[in-house]
Amino acid sequence: MKITVLASGSKGNCICVEGGSGTILIDAGISNRDIRRRMAEAGADAGDVEGLFLTHEHSDHIRGVDVFCRGSGVAVHGTKGTLSGLAPTLKKPGALKLHPMAHGEGVACGDFTVTTFHTSHDAAEPSGFCIREGDVTLGVCTDTGMVTPAMLAYLRRCDAVILESNHCPVMLVEGRYPAFLKRRIADTKRGHLSNPAAAAVLRHLCADLSHVVLAHLSEENNTPEKALATAHEGLGLYAGNQQVAVARQHTISDSFEV
Ligand SMILES: [Zn+2]
Ligand SMILES: [Zn+2]
Repeated sequence: MKITVLASGSKGNCICVEGGSGTILIDAGISNRDIRRRMAEAGADAGDVEGLFLTHEHSDHIRGVDVFCRGSGVAVHGTKGTLSGLAPTLKKPGALKLHPMAHGEGVACGDFTVTTFHTSHDAAEPSGFCIREGDVTLGVCTDTGMVTPAMLAYLRRCDAVILESNHCPVMLVEGRYPAFLKRRIADTKRGHLSNPAAAAVLRHLCADLSHVVLAHLSEENNTPEKALATAHEGLGLYAGNQQVAVARQHTISDSFEV
């Protein structure tokens, strides 16, 4: 399984997962043109995409869905709540193949099995994913105010994890965002995962994990250096065992294989 984060952050999210015989995308929050351009840059073929899986319906995760999927015929998978939120953004709703999936359910897509789990975010029915191909599993967990024991149980099965590390709590408190927005971001039920909260998750995962990608970093309330330093603290003694990287907003990440 080859993984490339094509974009990550509040301006757009898209992850490309290439398997032995096909490719899936997680979120399409950048334009159709950017999806295709960044896939090509990663050496991936947009014609190989077998399915698109959506974490939730916020615009930074669905911006490119309509045009990309209408042009390619690629099916869109998401919870009922996410697909309901997507519907008003579609020009011709009937033109897209929408496949509802339930939390906890495994969906086959090519050689992949994709299982969703519930996340804590201000969206209708947001999801994280475990993506399995053969004996390898990738976890995707972003846009969540907290990681519950149930979510942790999913992530512990993974060989690689793309995990939100959205903000440094000190930068958020001292930053220039209005108070209501600060509260929303830090809200554990509906917000975004902080650097220390991500580090606490990593502390529970580190034994078998080979790769960690810190994702959905705030450009305003975080720096890649701070996110990396806190993640390394979380990994502690295991810090040498994992490759830890930061996903970027404006450029694709280095691809890695698990
Ligand atoms: Zn987001
Ligand atoms: Zn969101």
